[in-house]
Formats: sequence, C-alpha cells, structure tokens
Amino acid sequence: MRVVAGVDLGGTAVNYTLVTQEEAFLIEGLCEHPARSREGPEVCLQQIVDGLKRAVEQVGLCDADVVVAGLDTPGPASAAGVLSAEGSTNFVHRDWGGFDIRGSLSARLGIPVTYLNDGNAGALWGHFNIFGTNRSATSVTVVIGTGLGGGVIIEGRDIKGRKGFGGELGHVLLPYQNIRGIHGLVPECNCGRTGDLESVCSLTAIGKSFLPYFLPRYPDHELGKLGNLNQAAKLVRGLAEKGDPMCKEIFRVQAHALGIFFDEMINTFDPDALVVGGGAIETSEEFQRWFVAEIHAGMPPQREEQADIPIYIMPNGDTAGARGAAIEALQFARANGLL
Ligand SMILES: [Zn+2]
Repeated sequence: MRVVAGVDLGGTAVNYTLVTQEEAFLIEGLCEHPARSREGPEVCLQQIVDGLKRAVEQVGLCDADVVVAGLDTPGPASAAGVLSAEGSTNFVHRDWGGFDIRGSLSARLGIPVTYLNDGNAGALWGHFNIFGTNRSATSVTVVIGTGLGGGVIIEGRDIKGRKGFGGELGHVLLPYQNIRGIHGLVPECNCGRTGDLESVCSLTAIGKSFLPYFLPRYPDHELGKLGNLNQAAKLVRGLAEKGDPMCKEIFRVQAHALGIFFDEMINTFDPDALVVGGGAIETSEEFQRWFVAEIHAGMPPQREEQADIPIYIMPNGDTAGARGAAIEALQFARANGLL
C-alpha cells in the first residue's frame, strides 16, 4: 500500500502520522517521542528517520510504502525549509543556523519531503477537517499557544508567501484600544510591535500583559500570591473554566481581540470558515462554546450576507501539525503522480 507520512518536529516531541490515498489516517492518537533537536541536526534527523520507520512498522507497512513525507517545524524558516541563519528558540544548536532541514531529511529518507511551518500545518489540518481537499474553499486559522500561529488557506492552498512568512497572523496589528475593559493597557509583543494579535492573544500575553494589568484590580486573587507570573499564566485557563471572574475576563478580552482580528480577515478574504485551535481552547465543550460566542460578540457588526460566518474549534489539537504536514505531502504526491 502506498502512503504519505506527516512528521511534526515540535519544541519537545516528534509526532508522526500516515495517510492513505483515500485520505484515511492510519494512526489515530499520538505517535511520538521526545525531540533531540537541542543536540543538533545530525542526531535529530537520524531520530526522525528511526522514528518514522517504527511508525510505519507499527501499522504493518514498510519503509518502501512511504512515497512522500511532509515535515513541519516551528519557524522561522524559508518556504523551502531552510531554517533561519539567526537560529531560534527551538533550534538552539549552532549547526541549525541556515540549515536545509527539508533537503537533508529528503536525502536521508530517499523520498521527496515537503515543508510547512507549524502554524501553516495546523491551518491546513483545520481546513482539511472541515472541507476535505475541496479546492474552492478558503479559511483562516489561528492556533493559540505560547505564541500565536496560524495560516490562511485560499482555495485549498496554504499561503506561504515570498519568504515563507505568509500566515504570520500573530504579528498583525489590531486596534486593541477598541476592546472594553483594558483601558491603559499597552500590550507589547516579543517581536517589537505594540498591540498585535499575539500581544493580546497568547499564553505569553497573559504572563506579560494581562496578569500585571488585572492582578492589582483583584488584590486578593490567589494568582497574585504565587509570585511568579509565568507560572500563574499557565493556571489562568483552568481557573477561567471554573468560572473565576478575573481569569474569565482575561479570556473574554482575548476572544474580543480575536473578534477584531477575524473581522479584518472577513473583510480581506471573505472566507468560508474561521478556525481556532491550540492549547488555549483545549477545554470543555461548554467553555469552547462560550469562547466562540465571545469572539462573535467582539466583532464589529457584519454585513447581513456575512453575519453567519462559522467559527470552528480545531479537533485533534495534539496531532494537528503532523496531520497538516501529511495533507501537504498528499497534495504533492497527487500533483506529481506518486500515488
Ligand atoms: Zn508580534
């Protein structure tokens, strides 16, 4: 049987999936092991080759059945899969600077390898999950984690852009001053911008901007007693789900920021769907429904024709990267007659 593989090299783990020509995923849950990217390309690429072999054997296939592999990693990297010369948080070993990770993996595996950054891979999975490989659909996906990633899929194709930075939705500036309840807040992003989407909608934003802003307004709050904002930030989602007023307010502000951002996307692309994924909304369905309703509430009024724009929660969050990478590989395999 001929299949394509998806390989998600994340900050802490490598995750694998396999998909058939009929678009059936052969691995249901997580198939992963810790990532050794800190030890440099030599060690890391060999562990991907070995891990993929194990994943293939696990479903009763062999190496030769895999015709294309799709790889996704955190950026920054070029559209062709060359990592930034300046290195990055996830690729600290000096040998990664300017490294052609796609080409090198392809040489080791002896098959074509496609490349996406992790945000674009997540977006492709979010899109595929709703529309399949329907060529006419357009969607915009945001993935809220430590930062904010995502992607734009136009007529079934991931927009990578000239240098691979297409879909860097986290650094799109927002008129955040329009969000009620944060008067005087100046949200700064690690990229140097003030008031972009990531600066008001990410785990980093909670620790860096929201807790310093809200804790003095809730002087007896339990998170104020922790003495560590980064640690406290990780507890905000759980407390919001339990109905804690301050933490729920932080999520309400993030939802309204998304409402403004999605309004910008509606006016730019008139998409068929908007999708939200990532750790921030890996919560109960009840909380997800509340969050989506707050996104709608945060949007400026829509034209009558566009007011029914659907907002979906991305399923299979943990495996979204690998699945999106596999879809990209599947499209490549089809276009090149390899399946
Ligand atoms: Zn930014």
